[in-house]
Amino acid sequence: MPTRTRPPLTAFTPGAPTAPAAAHAPARIGPNAIIQTYHALVAHGDAALAAEVLHDATRRTPDTLPGAMVDEREAVAMVHRVRQVLDDDDAAAVLRDAGVRTARYLLANRIPRLAQGVMRWSPAPLAFRLLAGAMARHAWTFAGSGRFEWVTEPRTMLRIHDCPMCRDVRTSRPLCDYYAATFDTLVRTLVSHELGVREVRCRAMGDACCEFAVMSRDAHRVTSP
Ligand SMILES: [Zn+2]
Repeated sequence: MPTRTRPPLTAFTPGAPTAPAAAHAPARIGPNAIIQTYHALVAHGDAALAAEVLHDATRRTPDTLPGAMVDEREAVAMVHRVRQVLDDDDAAAVLRDAGVRTARYLLANRIPRLAQGVMRWSPAPLAFRLLAGAMARHAWTFAGSGRFEWVTEPRTMLRIHDCPMCRDVRTSRPLCDYYAATFDTLVRTLVSHELGVREVRCRAMGDACCEFAVMSRDAHRVTSP
């Protein structure tokens, strides 16, 4: 896996004070962005790099992966560090894998079996509403200081406003591979195998929010880069 020359990390220093503009306590976020990104890096063939990225971003080691909610800045730093040390394609692949792993973890441990069964047996529009409603109720675990919403008109969309993962980042392509892959796996598993999720607008590109379109997988394939 090709790596870039490692620049010094500036995204997060554990224990550092909150930015002056934020007078309130730093937002908390679920630990999966850290845990699953670490495992994705290992799976992509470089355990030493995975441990280095983990330590650079969070000062944690593979033996001290978080078991509860963390400071949002740790998760953001982890994602940023992956993008710093890998080229764009490898970073996207790792973060997508982390998103898939997060969805699988949620399916195995967090979304009740009964609720999964109801969604799988419901017509897709109802199943989507049930899933999106559950995501909205638990958005604090994955969106941190961002705000999650979902709409079905005029198109079915999941949105994150003020997405922490691309705050202060500017790119020419949608950047939220982690969220896109998590949402895609959940929708494909619980709503319909014929649907997929793709990020079509991203705050990192200057858009007002990060917007994830739910669309048929055929359309997904046709329009995917
Ligand atoms: Zn985005």
